[in-house]
Amino acid sequence: MAALTCTTCRRPFEGRPNRRYCSTVCRRQREAKRRAWDNLTRTAARLRQRAEVATDPRQREHLERQAARFLSRRPEGGQPEEVPT
Ligand SMILES: [Zn+2]
Repeated sequence: MAALTCTTCRRPFEGRPNRRYCSTVCRRQREAKRRAWDNLTRTAARLRQRAEVATDPRQREHLERQAARFLSRRPEGGQPEEVPT
């Protein structure tokens, strides 16, 4: 048994070295954030694609602003490849 730190709540816990979460609640929380992160990233990418092909510059600017807003709403701790400490 090793002293580990939960990736979600940062509390120390004991477990196998490959465990990242102290509980199912923490694992689910991370999965939910991960899903939200992915959805917002995907939506922003779609908006940027539409911005790229937009002929009206004001429409393009609007789409880019929308994309940036979606990216800024991504939850902390939802990004992929979060390295456990
Ligand atoms: Zn936890």
